[in-house]
Amino acid sequence: MMTPKQALLIGHPLGHSLSPAFHNAAFRAAGIDATYHLADVLPENLAATVTALRAADVYGANVTVPYKQDVLPFLDALSDEAAALGAVNTIVNDDGRLTGLNTDVPGFAADMRAQGIAVAGRPVILLGAGGAARAVAAALIGMEVGQLVIANRTPERAAAMQRQYPVIANATGIADRDLTDVLPTIALLINATSAGLHGDEIPIAAELLNLLPPSAVVYDLIYRPTALLRAAQERNLRAVDGLGMLIHQGALAWEAWTGRTAPLDVMWQAVQHGKNT
Ligand code: NAP
Repeated sequence: MMTPKQALLIGHPLGHSLSPAFHNAAFRAAGIDATYHLADVLPENLAATVTALRAADVYGANVTVPYKQDVLPFLDALSDEAAALGAVNTIVNDDGRLTGLNTDVPGFAADMRAQGIAVAGRPVILLGAGGAARAVAAALIGMEVGQLVIANRTPERAAAMQRQYPVIANATGIADRDLTDVLPTIALLINATSAGLHGDEIPIAAELLNLLPPSAVVYDLIYRPTALLRAAQERNLRAVDGLGMLIHQGALAWEAWTGRTAPLDVMWQAVQHGKNT
């Protein structure tokens, strides 16, 4: 008999997560005897936790805040995307050898395709300069975005990111005066900050959305109905939350662990159910 397998989500602190619901639903649907569970790991236990992923019954892990960079020294190899970003969100155990991937990059691109949002040759504002913003910027560059305005609360971090993409990117702050000129030209506004993760916090003043053209899309990586998404809807702008990106990055991790095609429809159903419970 095959030993049951496992996969982990490594982070700290880990609050409520939708990942176990959709990964476990996918294992069940595919008839795979495996479980996905949360591993809330203190910094002093990170090395031991990653080393334990080499065990034969472990598929690997997802990695979330604050460890996406910290796990790198404990891995044997990195995918090109993970190496370019210096951040890993998925670890694959292949017979005791650990490879770090970054499925946030192709996961975001996959959701953009699924949502039918085109950016090739078009101008985009990206709010944020943290790990998620870097993954989104890499995906947008791969999708041949026309112009990228990286706007961050700490403008120096936006400038540091912009230097990676000097030909197409500009860096700015997120104060009203920083964005008023550029907003009327924008096809897509993306929130990759953590403003809105809890409560009604909003990364930019809601009134600024009045400056967007009616065809603009507002995409929030956060997967709850944020104040930003509500403000976009109130202005009849298309508003897209981060659930699709979450599912697609998870599906790509699941496929890397199992070698099977992920049952996306099952994962979507599990997430919709999990959101309402
Ligand atoms: P991070 O590395 O800690 O970066 C946080 C970013 O948010 C920084 O740019 C920070 O600006 C900005 N920020 C924080 N509080 C702010 C505020 N009150 N007002 C304006 N800006 C603020 O975090 P991360 O890993 O990039 O994650 C960012 C968000 O993306 C989180 O909400 C996370 O849940 C989401 N996410 C979603 C997915 C998905 O699959 N849907 C995947 C990854 C991440 P400073 O530089 O000025 O501090």
